Parts: sequence; structure tokens; C-alpha cells
Amino acid sequence: MNEFQLINRYFDWPQSGADLGVGDDAALMSLPSGMQLAVSADMLVEGRHFFAGTDPHSLGRKVLAVNLSDMAAMGATPRWFTLSLSLPDANDDWLAAFSAGLRSIADEHHVSLVGGDTTRGPLTIAIQIMGEVERGTALMRGGACPGDDLWVSGQLGTAAAVVMHRKDRAILPVSTLILCESKLDNPVPRLALGRELRALATSAIDISDGLVGDAGHICERSCCGAEIELERVPCLPELNGLPKNLLNEAILSGGDDYELCFTAPPERRNDIESLSTRLGLALTRIGCIVAGQGVRVLKPDGTRLEMTCGGFDHFG
Ligand code: ADP
Ligand code: MG
Repeated sequence: MNEFQLINRYFDWPQSGADLGVGDDAALMSLPSGMQLAVSADMLVEGRHFFAGTDPHSLGRKVLAVNLSDMAAMGATPRWFTLSLSLPDANDDWLAAFSAGLRSIADEHHVSLVGGDTTRGPLTIAIQIMGEVERGTALMRGGACPGDDLWVSGQLGTAAAVVMHRKDRAILPVSTLILCESKLDNPVPRLALGRELRALATSAIDISDGLVGDAGHICERSCCGAEIELERVPCLPELNGLPKNLLNEAILSGGDDYELCFTAPPERRNDIESLSTRLGLALTRIGCIVAGQGVRVLKPDGTRLEMTCGGFDHFG
């Protein structure tokens, strides 16, 4: 199988959302008037972002899910994506499972694969995703104000707990491990939440590198600080058996949860609570935005938790 047969067989899917998709020198897409293009890229490298030997079907889903999560964090609707693949070899079984996984989540979210690049090399999967958002309504990191509440969706620390288990730092009961693994492998991009938050939130980010690090990005872009109340940070009840230091590390600096962290004025609390009910998704107020800089985590007695680990930093 040569490069072009590989592309034709696995990545030339019937197009609906593009004017011109895979097969030419560039793809062509049209944006309705009044809409802005939202573009984001995320790369997954074997051994760094996923374990060697990861099931290719879930990998196909995950690589698009993490990109969809960036669209969610902007309040954008994802429309198209490109796929750049570096493969050690052209393994039919791997490609069939990977492309099926990728296509399943693409179809669920009505996004079209419009092009990409394919090369031989260490297994690396890079996606560039493109979406649309009504001009001037995108959620950004820079709009938080002192006095705003700080919120998160879902539960944190689930993905990190699996990594701790796999690295022999913690032992999870089998049922907890299975539950957490399904979340690590199949993160749910919070697209509906992101779109709704455009009318409610002052800033948003998706939690890919850990709550404290990612809330810190909101603070930097908004020129303010944040206080997080440790006991308010939501985690799966099943993880309460972990030693306290590991649990704190998982919920505060564990990556890969892909929940949204956002800020909103206190007047929005009722709206956010009804949104939570409407979406069937936990939205939890975990702290507030303050003047100053940096993220402080407060223990129940009001003293500050000293953090030994920030967010994930590839060059840290
Ligand atoms: P070029 O030589 O212009 O870079 P390529 O030969 O790399 O073009 O790719 C041919 C066509 O296949 C292009 O439309 C490109 O976007 C598409 N393509 C290449 N690799 C992939 C991939 N992994 N997934 C989807 N489309 C791809
Ligand atoms: Mg090329």
C-alpha cells in the first residue's frame, strides 16, 4: 500500500460540510456571513500523550475529542479538521481501527475531514480543527474580573488517577479503574456547555493540563488571581479512597480531563445552575477571581495548600 492508496482507503470519506475536501492541493470551505473562523491544533505523540500499544480505535476518538474540546472552550461549533499522521509503518489493522474510531466521533459531531498529510516516522497524530462562532461571541481566557466566581464542569482527576495506577503510584479497585479508563480514553468534549456559556461566562478554558495550571492561564490573560477552595473541587466519589496527597495532585494538577473551567459574575449563579440541570452535567463553583496574580488553593481551615506540582509543562 503506497501513501496515496493509504489516504484513499482510510481517510477519503464522503464529504458533506466542505466545498472541496481530500484529494486536491488544498481544501475549500465557506463560512456563513457573520461568523468567525475558530482554528486550533493539538498533537498526540506516542509515549508522551498516550501509551505505546494504545487501542487504535479509542486513539482515533481521543485525538479528535481533545481538539473538539478546544472548540468547546471557545464556544465555537466545530465544522472541519485536517489530520497529519506520522506512522512507523502502514499497518492495515491499525489504520482500519484508527480511522473507524476517528470517523465515529467525527460523525457524531458533524465535522468533516478535509485534508492532511501522511509521512513515515514515529507515531504522531496531529489534528487542526476549524469551527465557526458568531462574530464577537467567542469565549476567551482574558475576560475574568475580580469578584467573578470560578466554576468547573464534571469531575476532575479521573484521567490522572489512571496514570497513577499504571505507573504504580496508586492502586485503584478494578471497578474504579474501568470507570476512570473509559473517561481517559473517551473524553466528552463539552460543546453544548461551551456554546451556552457564551451568554453567561466572562472567560473559559478547557482543562487539558490540570486545573491549577489552566486556571492560571485564565488569570494571566485576565491580569488577575484566583482562589480555589480545595474541598469544593469535584472528583468521582470512587477516588476518595486514594491517599490525600495523590487525590489532591490528581484533581489539582492532573491533565487530560477535558472539562471546562470558566468564570462568571455571581449574578449568573442561578442561570448556571439551571444550565447544569438542563445539560445533565455537574457545574461546580470552586472559588473566585481576585485582584493580584496566580492561583492559590485554600484548605478547609483557610490556610494555603503548598503545591509541589503545577500544570503539565512539556519543557518544565
Ligand atoms: P501534497 O503533496 O499537496 O502535500 P499530499 O500528497 O500530501 O498532497 O496529499 C494528497 C491529498 O490527500 C491532499 O488533499 C491532502 O490534504 C490529503 N491527505 C494527505 N494525508 C491525509 C490524511 N492523513 N488525512 C486526510 N487527508 C490527507
Ligand atoms: Mg502532503
